[in-house]
Amino acid sequence: MITPFRQFVLKVHSRCDLACDHCYVYEHADQSWRGRPKVIAPHTVDRVAARIAEHVTRHGLERVDVVLHGGEPLLAGHERLSAIATTLRAALDGHCRLGLHVQTNGVRLDDRFCEIFAEHGIRVGISLDGDRAANDRHRRYASGRSSYDQVIRAVERLRGRRELYAGLLCTVDVANDPIAVYEALAALRPPRIDFLLPYATWDAPPERHSETAYADWLITIFERWEADGRPASVRLFESIVRTTRGEPSLTEAVGLEPSTMIVIDTDGAYELVDSLKVAYDGAPATGHDVFRHALDEVAAHPGVLARQRGLEGLSATCRECPVVGSCGGGLYTHRFRAGSFDHPSVYCADLFKLVSHIQDRTKMSSHAIPYACLDSLATGLGSADDVRLLAQAQRSVRRALIAALRPRAAGEVWELFARMDQDHRDELEQVLAHPYVRVWAVGCLRGEHPVTYLANIAAAAMIRTGQDVELPVAVIGGAVHLPTVGTLHGVGGDTVTLVARSGRITVAGHPAPEWHAVRTVSSGDYSIVLEDADPHRDCHQWPTAGRLAQHEAAAWQEAFEPAWRLIEKEYPQYAQGLRAGLTTLTPLAPASGGRDVSSTARQAFGAVAAALPADPATLALLLIHEFQHVKLGAVIDLLDLFDRSHTGLYHAPWREDLRPLEGLLQGTYAHIGVTDFWRARRHAVHGADRDTAEREFARWCGHTVAATETLAASGALTPVGERFVARMRETVVAWQRELPGLADRPNTAI
Ligand code: SF4
Repeated sequence: MITPFRQFVLKVHSRCDLACDHCYVYEHADQSWRGRPKVIAPHTVDRVAARIAEHVTRHGLERVDVVLHGGEPLLAGHERLSAIATTLRAALDGHCRLGLHVQTNGVRLDDRFCEIFAEHGIRVGISLDGDRAANDRHRRYASGRSSYDQVIRAVERLRGRRELYAGLLCTVDVANDPIAVYEALAALRPPRIDFLLPYATWDAPPERHSETAYADWLITIFERWEADGRPASVRLFESIVRTTRGEPSLTEAVGLEPSTMIVIDTDGAYELVDSLKVAYDGAPATGHDVFRHALDEVAAHPGVLARQRGLEGLSATCRECPVVGSCGGGLYTHRFRAGSFDHPSVYCADLFKLVSHIQDRTKMSSHAIPYACLDSLATGLGSADDVRLLAQAQRSVRRALIAALRPRAAGEVWELFARMDQDHRDELEQVLAHPYVRVWAVGCLRGEHPVTYLANIAAAAMIRTGQDVELPVAVIGGAVHLPTVGTLHGVGGDTVTLVARSGRITVAGHPAPEWHAVRTVSSGDYSIVLEDADPHRDCHQWPTAGRLAQHEAAAWQEAFEPAWRLIEKEYPQYAQGLRAGLTTLTPLAPASGGRDVSSTARQAFGAVAAALPADPATLALLLIHEFQHVKLGAVIDLLDLFDRSHTGLYHAPWREDLRPLEGLLQGTYAHIGVTDFWRARRHAVHGADRDTAEREFARWCGHTVAATETLAASGALTPVGERFVARMRETVVAWQRELPGLADRPNTAI
């Protein structure tokens, strides 16, 4: 029984316009490229397309992917690439879904290529090793000239055509600064980043300054990527996380999945995985080609089968290794030594350390959110315990962020911080848990906020424990803010010495700055911060209000008190989660025309922002609605519910513009709360208000059911995402049966 191929790397041009010294095609043992046609001939493309179509039909494949590769594929030229795509689509469209991709160095990418790629649905990956210094280390022209500016221009072109932008491929060089590389890549907002370990074997080992230099380099990036909330898909890290959970890997670089990829060269020859070129001259050859052999014949080749044997195909050392389920012995090529692949990877020590590190972190996350909790949250509700678990998991995220700041923080501030953490952890945690501390930390890592604010956090914790303070702290916007404690207004400069003694808080050498303690709003025994001073709170979709006058703060209290009573009385199923997770209410500036506006920010767990609405019931609705976003954001911090590199756009029934998948998921989850609000409201009001409630319930129920269907059909949900959306859908479909005319159709597929 053979394993069918699903990915085809098609060499369309066998030369390159760059002379990168880490390139496996030209700079390593296999020199077979010298004898091949420069560009693939049309009749060869015809045979390739026919062979793939034959293979698809024989195995009933629903999807295959073809990567147009080289050398440098764009050297094939506009018309040739267009013709190749036309031939492939003509042969395969209608038989299966065909994913077309091109992997390029980018230097020739122009508008015409982009038009061709858009016309044929070709997604573009660009090879880029990081910032200018990193990229110039290897990716140069034969003359030694840098290719960086041209590559960046290509990426910018793709950023204007998001539907074409597949991501960036970075070859690791541990001589580069990992954070500089990560930041340079992340700044280009790629849907996906691939980190590629340099091609090497035991006979030609990689350059390294320590035994685990590659692991250390990648772990530094992993930590930062986690701290940033995983802004792009990183296939290597996600594959380790996925395999740890028993899900398939996304890359041949790790995992035990059988390889389903074959290379077809410009002369139509089938070749094994391209990277084998580094092992020995002729290593990738199969002796088969598209003119004489069907793909099934190649699939039975010993070299193909060797990469499909999973655990059984690994060395004895790997088979007994505790991380083999995720590592899988690494890339096949990296196992080569003295004529045999029966060895662990030449990167074994790195892989062991990297996999162990990510597994430790992943276990921490999955302990924080077991499936029972996830299922409960997926109904749209979630108990107090479920929300507390989310809050605890946020603590891990915050800790990772703060740890990432250590190299930037002043030594004495860091020591003070560490001391507070040791001696007064609970108080420090309460300050760190303030929603806008994470907003600051993320901005700080991006260079947008001052790292000196770490001292303000430490000082706030010290004041909360009753300690005296004399400490240089950050001034932002003419104020010294101490999160969860209060703000000194009317302070000049960037840094001042804060002095707190016997409950009096002031600034050394400053004529009496104005002190405003943090205010709260409360109802019964429940109170939350009314945040109108934190300098990092302006991270919401709408502008925040300035410092509230006394009567404005009183108006918020007047609205909150009955709104919370209403939530506790009519929406107890939401009250418990809100009480466990909502810590902060941030006033927004009033919107034009008195429109109700409200918002949450992904980095600000526990905060809901709103402009003061006209009545308490509306405030109750806004709190319920927005807290749904808070909960789901925290779930997404921990779990991949969808493919983060997916760029599809979807109709949301409540908006005119198309939404990315995450936006649709967020909106749908939030509208479960809105639907439930009106569902209960129907029974609490009378007359015209009841008619309104009935109408709103029917409207939001229909919208939410339709949106869950769109999500389920997107094809971009992960298995855990499918499970989550299925439960969301069950919730609203059950409610929809309460609508007039549907009550007697309990099993209707709505
Ligand atoms: S870490 Fe080393 S021994 Fe373990 S599976 Fe990977 S390559 Fe093999």
